[in-house]
Amino acid sequence: MHAPLLDAEIYDQIRETARRFAEEVVKPAAAALDRDETFPAEIYRKMGEIGLFGITVPEEHGGAGLDTYAYAIVMEELSRGYSSVADQCGLVELIGTLLTRYGTPEQLKRLPDILAGKTRVAYCLTEAEAGSDLSNVRTTARETAEGYVIDGGKLWIHNAPVADLGFVLASTDPAAGHRGMSIFLVDLDAPGVSRGPKEHKMGQRASQVGALSFDGVTVPREALLGPKGRGFHIMMSVLEKGRVGIASLAVGIAQAGLEAALAYARDRRQFGKPILDNQGLQWLLADMAKDIAAARALVERAALLIDHEKPATSASSMAKCFASDMAVAQTASAVQVFGGSGYIRGFEVERLYRDAKITQIYEGTNQIQRTIIARELIKNGA
Ligand SMILES: Cc1cc2nc3c(=O)[nH]c(=O)nc-3n(C[C@H](O)[C@H](O)[C@H](O)COP(=O)(O)OP(=O)(O)OC[C@H]3O[C@@H](n4cnc5c(N)ncnc54)[C@H](O)[C@@H]3O)c2cc1C
Repeated sequence: MHAPLLDAEIYDQIRETARRFAEEVVKPAAAALDRDETFPAEIYRKMGEIGLFGITVPEEHGGAGLDTYAYAIVMEELSRGYSSVADQCGLVELIGTLLTRYGTPEQLKRLPDILAGKTRVAYCLTEAEAGSDLSNVRTTARETAEGYVIDGGKLWIHNAPVADLGFVLASTDPAAGHRGMSIFLVDLDAPGVSRGPKEHKMGQRASQVGALSFDGVTVPREALLGPKGRGFHIMMSVLEKGRVGIASLAVGIAQAGLEAALAYARDRRQFGKPILDNQGLQWLLADMAKDIAAARALVERAALLIDHEKPATSASSMAKCFASDMAVAQTASAVQVFGGSGYIRGFEVERLYRDAKITQIYEGTNQIQRTIIARELIKNGA
């Protein structure tokens, strides 16, 4: 296993910042945010202010200049507070990575406001006919003398109801399939852009997710991110880091479930003693702790491979797939420890169980992760 690149104190410091914010600001608000399906702008701005956006973005571009290992720490800590908040950190990390890798000097000027939490972003890939199969994207960007005209629609996009700036995957050459796609920066208040209503979801209810439509939206030539026709490749190039982020977020959800379950098992008495005194329940908690530790180890391995610039495709898919399956299973165990109370709205574990489910679906479903792992296995051997 590779060693982390930075001094241990740096990881301790960033963990402390994220943990304090999660415990003081996020966790106390989580139940109300889930109930009301809102994401207060103050929380978003505060995240920018205290440096929780752009963990791996170089300092010269306004980021923290840390690594994927540090990013994973931040995601887990925020998610222990509430995963909808961690999701925002993950989204900005992807956009920050895209801009620093492929942005023009002019496009990079958008980054400081994004990292400060002043400009909210959306990463717009999914469509009605293009979910797991993004090569089927039908949104088009037709080249004109001045720039491009975008037509099409996107579904289930994080921040769609509130975002200022979209990063939109569109086809610039439909005949070329995934080799004819490009990414555009689109101001979401531009004429021709319309937003669908906020979706009402099973979990992560504070996350504002919805549809976007583009009806003859004119963007200048300078809105193109990276080379024309390389959009699919550019989008894929940040997925490894994205999957580490979601894996870490899933670990944070499960960790919150374990902490809640352990505390409840100490307090709750049945048959004249704490339920924690029953070996049957102790084993359930032991399995939770064991599986969380295993998932965290997979996250760390994938993060370190990325930081050491080693192949991390399989490792990041393993981390995402294992951690999200684990989070669903272990938040179900947390509900079990609470008995009937665990099934009642307002108890944290009820929310955690709902929040965990989406981690098996977004950033590539777990079927797709298994397909990637198998493909790498067949190509490279065991
Ligand atoms: C809350 C939420 C937030 C989201 N945020 C964003 C966002 O910000 N930006 C964005 O672009 N998208 C976002 N998405 C979309 C998300 O990434 C997609 O839902 C996901 O990629 C799956 O696509 P799909 O829903 O069309 O499922 P489908 O692709 O239709 O899959 C349906 C089922 O078939 C399985 N399947 C499909 N193909 C295969 C295969 N080849 N082998 C085996 N099984 C297969 C899948 O695993 C799944 O179980 C979000 C979705 C949700 C629900």
